[in-house]
Amino acid sequence: MSENDAVEGLRQVQASIRRSASDYDRDPSAITLVAVSKTFPAEAIEPVLAAGQRVFGENYVQEAKAKWPALRERYDGVELHLIGPLQSNKAKEAVALFDAIQTLDRPSLAEALAKEIAKQGKKPRLLVQVNTGEEPQKGGVAPSELDAFLNACRSQYGLEIEGLMCIPPAEDPPSPHFALLNTLARKHGLKTLSMGMSADFDAAIQLGATHVRVGSAIFGSRAKA
Ligand SMILES: *Cc1c(COP(=O)(O)O)cnc(C)c1O
Repeated sequence: MSENDAVEGLRQVQASIRRSASDYDRDPSAITLVAVSKTFPAEAIEPVLAAGQRVFGENYVQEAKAKWPALRERYDGVELHLIGPLQSNKAKEAVALFDAIQTLDRPSLAEALAKEIAKQGKKPRLLVQVNTGEEPQKGGVAPSELDAFLNACRSQYGLEIEGLMCIPPAEDPPSPHFALLNTLARKHGLKTLSMGMSADFDAAIQLGATHVRVGSAIFGSRAKA
């Protein structure tokens, strides 16, 4: 994909989001597009920044650290979200680099993040990842354990949790997973719902997504790692 294709992809995704919002009677300004730029180099991201997109998602701390400080110097108002699994020993770098961390999913990580937030005086927004499909290989808190984990985050670690995130199993229809995440967020009074990717953000918007994470529909397909 050329750079212009990425800008064209961005425009198409923005239009699709507006269309979905209108179809489902939702306020389009309540839906944030997180452009997922993982694996793409700074040169591929820059035209999308120049076209006005400011919210981006990355999966790997090291990769984000290599790309984003320089891009941030040139573009104001960038908001960077970590959407990939986070090792506790990278909490320090993650707190320093990201404005939001969407993949909080275990007490050891909550503890490491709380420590760094206190130390650095910087407070990224936090989402808890929920493993709605209960897949053993996937990160996220099991739905049945969410209650206890949210309580521990608040009372034990003093963390403010803004919302929930999920990645439905690839082989399942996504809507039941989005509906479950919505139900869990309402139950716990959480306002932010990060769900929906290139293939299924329309369904996620129908079911209440406030953040959709879209990569390949903007940047093109990624080389397999
Ligand atoms: C890569 C990734 C995305 C983007 O996926 P696309 O299908 O390319 O839109 C969204 N969310 C997470 C957690 C990802 O890892």
